[in-house]
Amino acid sequence: MQNFSFQNPVKLLFGKGQIANIAGEIPTTARVLMTYGGGSIKANGVYDQVKAALAQHTLMEFGGIEPNPRYETLMKAVELARAEKLDYLLAVGGGSVLDGTKFIAAAIPFVGEPWDILSKAAPITSAVPLASVLTLPATGSEMNTFAVISRNSTHEKLAFGHPLVYPKFSVLDPETTFTLPPRQIANGVVDAFTHTMEQYLTYPADAPLQDRFAESILKTLIEEGPKTLANPTDYTSRANFMWCATMALNGIIGCGVPQDWATHMIGHELTALHEIDHARTLAIVLPSIMHVKRDTKQGKLLQYAERVWDIRTGTDAERIDAAIAATRKFFESMGLPTRLNAYNVGEEVAGIVADRLSSRGEVALGEHKDITAQTVRDILRMSI
Ligand code: NAP
Ligand code: FE
Repeated sequence: MQNFSFQNPVKLLFGKGQIANIAGEIPTTARVLMTYGGGSIKANGVYDQVKAALAQHTLMEFGGIEPNPRYETLMKAVELARAEKLDYLLAVGGGSVLDGTKFIAAAIPFVGEPWDILSKAAPITSAVPLASVLTLPATGSEMNTFAVISRNSTHEKLAFGHPLVYPKFSVLDPETTFTLPPRQIANGVVDAFTHTMEQYLTYPADAPLQDRFAESILKTLIEEGPKTLANPTDYTSRANFMWCATMALNGIIGCGVPQDWATHMIGHELTALHEIDHARTLAIVLPSIMHVKRDTKQGKLLQYAERVWDIRTGTDAERIDAAIAATRKFFESMGLPTRLNAYNVGEEVAGIVADRLSSRGEVALGEHKDITAQTVRDILRMSI
């Protein structure tokens, strides 16, 4: 096991009716900005629940944060918060609203051009406190420090992370997710699955507890994913899926183990270039990475085959092939294509993505930092 330091300060309020309890978590003197997306929270009653809970607070709102939240939109919220001296942010929505709100929190006190936080890793020394009411289990953003922000004018999609943008608390009420369209639920299952794989499918690190944490999340997603897709209002299934998604990316399963993240890095480029949903890019890239990196990932691929999919017969190569095929089949059974041709994207994308990552110096990806521009090309050619 590798050395690690770990601290996750996010308080979770999990379960039915928990939105009613948020008033006690936010200082009564706070001037709150509630942020949200395109209106799903108005249609499903979550907006009204939050307004009722915060009836005694000073509350302003900023809606219209789009999926793959845009810098251009978020800067309007920054201006509003600065002008109105708002000092507490409450994100109500999916990963895009949460990520966008983390950026707003860091940008409000930032001196200079806030895009530098993303493009130049400009240091953050303060952030406005934020909290969240999550309505889409997928990203883990409700309990982590990360945010991924897009800039429309330049087709960029960049990430940052900082402990100052941990939510103070997050509400996870599975009932708020009952209105999710099947496509978003399927995306969420695949995003959470891939987060787990990025921290598991590397090389053995003598960390059996971490391995079993990861395997338990993967197996639970394989069991609960199809159930929650078929029965959107089955509370138990939704609750278990929601908890899986949070556990997949709140830092715990990544303690002391190598991490990959190449699938996400390549996937972000596909979203930036072709507006393919985040999880849908992962469903395309992950099976190809498993194939292209089958030698350096061999030990974990065989463990994954046996422990997650119960594949026990055949040669090493056959079991690895079977595990990759099972992964592909699982994603496709959830309704996510695993090939780029489903989006009419051709082979030229391989070179374009490799060049974009190269231009940012991001061509030593993966747990061994051996995914070069050429490997990216190979991975994407295999994904067509
Ligand atoms: P999302 O982009 O936040 O939301 C997708 C859609 O779902 C939106 O149209 C939204 O509508 C709708 N929606 C949300 N909750 C709903 C509900 N309860 N009922 C009906 N519709 C609902 O999706 P996401 O998958 O959660 O977030 C994706 C973003 O997170 C990407 O930008 C990705 O790169 C990023 N990400 C972040 C992390 C991280 O660690 N921070 C990790 C992985 C990915 P409204 O807009 O109308 O609400
Ligand atoms: Fe993700």
